[in-house]
Amino acid sequence: MIPRRTTRQVKVGARLIGGDAPISIQSMTKTDTTDVEATVRQIRALATAGCEIVRVAVPTIEAAKALPDIRREANKVPLVADIHFHPQFALAAIEAGFDKIRWNPGNIRNPQRVREVVDRAKERGIPIRIGVNVGSLDPECEARYPDHLVEAIVQSALKSVRLLEGFGFYDIVLSLKSSDVLQTLAAYRRMAQLCDYPFHLGVTEAGLLEASTVKSSIGIGALLAEGIGDTIRVSITGDPIDEVRVAQQILSSLELRRFTTNVIACPSCGRCQIDVVGIAKQVEQRLQALSKREPRALELTVAVMGCIVNGPGESEHADIGLAGGGGMGLIYRKGVQVRRVAEAQMVDALLDEVEHLLQDRSRLEVEPATGLGGSAAGPPTLFGGGSREDAAAYSLEP
Ligand code: SF4
Repeated sequence: MIPRRTTRQVKVGARLIGGDAPISIQSMTKTDTTDVEATVRQIRALATAGCEIVRVAVPTIEAAKALPDIRREANKVPLVADIHFHPQFALAAIEAGFDKIRWNPGNIRNPQRVREVVDRAKERGIPIRIGVNVGSLDPECEARYPDHLVEAIVQSALKSVRLLEGFGFYDIVLSLKSSDVLQTLAAYRRMAQLCDYPFHLGVTEAGLLEASTVKSSIGIGALLAEGIGDTIRVSITGDPIDEVRVAQQILSSLELRRFTTNVIACPSCGRCQIDVVGIAKQVEQRLQALSKREPRALELTVAVMGCIVNGPGESEHADIGLAGGGGMGLIYRKGVQVRRVAEAQMVDALLDEVEHLLQDRSRLEVEPATGLGGSAAGPPTLFGGGSREDAAAYSLEP
């Protein structure tokens, strides 16, 4: 497990951000906020896809007026109001029962107006995210660091932090976003040395699905790998559901959270003699369905390999593995060969073994001391113990 930076904790509805809370996934509605029906539909779709905190833009007075209806219809989904210039919209969001405000106080010149929002947020126990973007820096900080954009980002955020702290407010989340991955990394790393407020990570304006997936995986992923970050938003020009899926993949890849069974699949090459792409897709879908009724399937790693060159080795690191070739497939359990099946039966056989493994684990939990109970004492083998060497010897190649 990656050791995480020690941060304060804030509460966003029923969700916690920071401290030892799991790193949460956020996204943002892309509907016109005044269209309550469309906005609520998207909030629900995001929540169903696994989005844990949903942000809604509040650019106009009409949007602010829609917030009470959105709050009521969106039920218990933690909601964030995204405000840029108008403190009265932040007050309206707090009044409507929103759970957090995303705000750039640097955009509001009058400290008294900031204080009104801060006091109301404090009364209601609502955190404020100071969301600094390269596009909305504090003008003084920008002028002071003309050749050092990262420092200008960090100082802009710190100026807002001091303003809020001056009013006795500490339920703060920080974000320091740039569309430039290296700037984003540098800004968060620098700020991590200066405070213990939780961080909302993201690479802003990261582009269409493919570009954003790459930039976000590098930007957000690198920081998470260093233990920096408490909640994440992948910014995609496109369907917000994709933002949630990519965020889940980033967290899963770093073993920070698991949303699906970990499926390792080889890229296939000239040695491949089975439809590894089709089989991997089927395996992924079947495991997704299985994990809904048997959540412990999420803990497993399953390998789908096109041939036996890397199949046995990769299977040693996986719980269940498949190595194909010549229209046949070898199934491994913890690197030990347990079955040989025709290609048409590969997926069913692999899923059978996954189910057997889960059943054996359940049995072991019930009978921990005895070690009895069928194959729980050791994996079943159809080929007399089936070591890695046996598998290699059992060549499927002509
Ligand atoms: Fe090629 Fe086999 Fe490696 Fe897959 S496992 S990429 S088929 S060598």
